[in-house]
Amino acid sequence: MITTNPFEDRDGDKLREECGIFGVLGARDAAAMTALGLHALQHRGQEAVGITSFDGQEFFSRRGIGHVAQNFSSGQAIAELPGMMAAGHVRYSTTGGSGLRNVQPLFADLAAGGFAIAHNGNISNAMFLKRDLVQKGAIFQSTSDTEVIIHLVATSRYPTLLDRFVDVLRLVEGAYSLICMTPEGMIACRDPLGIRPLVMGKLGDAVVFASESVALDVVGADMVREVEPGELVQVALDGSIQTHRPFGDTPQRPCIFEHVYFSRPDSILGGRSVYEVRKAIGTQLALENPADADLVIPVPDSGVPAALGYAQQSGIPFELGIIRSHYVGRTFIQPSDGARNADVKRKHNANRALVAGKRIVLIDDSIVRGTTSLKIVQMMREAGAREVHFRVASPPTEHSCFYGVDTPERSKLLAARMDIAAMAEFIQADSLAFVSIDGLYRAVGEVQRNSTCPQYCDACFTGDYPTRLTDMGDRAPGCSPVKLKAKPAKVA
Ligand code: SF4
Repeated sequence: MITTNPFEDRDGDKLREECGIFGVLGARDAAAMTALGLHALQHRGQEAVGITSFDGQEFFSRRGIGHVAQNFSSGQAIAELPGMMAAGHVRYSTTGGSGLRNVQPLFADLAAGGFAIAHNGNISNAMFLKRDLVQKGAIFQSTSDTEVIIHLVATSRYPTLLDRFVDVLRLVEGAYSLICMTPEGMIACRDPLGIRPLVMGKLGDAVVFASESVALDVVGADMVREVEPGELVQVALDGSIQTHRPFGDTPQRPCIFEHVYFSRPDSILGGRSVYEVRKAIGTQLALENPADADLVIPVPDSGVPAALGYAQQSGIPFELGIIRSHYVGRTFIQPSDGARNADVKRKHNANRALVAGKRIVLIDDSIVRGTTSLKIVQMMREAGAREVHFRVASPPTEHSCFYGVDTPERSKLLAARMDIAAMAEFIQADSLAFVSIDGLYRAVGEVQRNSTCPQYCDACFTGDYPTRLTDMGDRAPGCSPVKLKAKPAKVA
């Protein structure tokens, strides 16, 4: 795999959002618009990309390994995808691993008609459901958790695709934002807790759905609203819209890490500017964890807004003490001599003239394994920094995510292995501090975390998983699943 992600991959020492989805109905150039929208969502997945279109008669599909620009920049690629309805997906593999057969949208010809699906999230009981389906004779084409939905839709007893779909949603657990296409139109929905984001926009008569509002901006669509947690929006080919709420009103638990790191800072999430929230996290961090220092320096790029907030609150000057290369791949062979930390320096290099002799506060969005944090602290010291104080714009990441984010297993997470003093020693910082969980909640506009009914999913910080984790079986960590009252699907 070649990863040329300029967005902070740092050799797997980052939590990594795994998918972005985009769909449009009613646009003459639906596939081209989808490619553009997916390009704006490239930070959510760089391993593979696919687009499926419908021309009123037939479905067309094109999928490839690599970035959107590698697969969909030619006129010929777009010409293979005719029609006024299209949906697409960028992916970094979640459940199921890599390989073209797992690239979405997945498509199947069902008895009730063609069915294409693009999924952001992770179904936490997919293995359980799949075992049952295989025993009943289902033959799976991929190893993706998303294919379970297709098989369940295919075998549901309900007569219409919509009713079958609602029937299936009652069975799946975990996180899902979905964009589906049928010969009747498009269906977009979010899981009842709204763990992964999904927004809806309009461009003329066209209806657009996307993981983040930035994709609407890029295609020139106006944001209408977020698809609400537990809501299913059905758009017919004539553009008429119906909404359904098969789960009734449920408490929401959107992923709080979207605000910290995953979403682009120019997106609007939960009605808030991601950029402003990140600055507010920096403000909280400075209030809770001041440092006696000369400069505030962000770890690029995701630490920048929080560092600005920290600098403005503390009065310590903000400076760019680390410069990021914009031309980074992962395919270099390391020279054996004199190249200590060459890989991290290839991506980030110290602004030596600025840093030498200074006491600095480094701001990063999170610490996962800690290996990159260590290299960055060492780089600052080698550049002559007198003191290095590390401040983190999220609470310690102590638990793995099972909702569509690539996290190392728990034993590899630095915060699961060490207390903060030991972590500081590990990364060789003079001091280390994290924003508190309540500080993070304040930054997203809450007074504090409601411990009996948390307003967000924050399981990677607290271990409080909002759904059952059926596939984890005996290994399931502590969770307090929100009880859902799914209404039975109506039989037409
Ligand atoms: S566990 Fe963490 S990363 Fe995963 S959905 Fe919850 S808050 Fe987001």
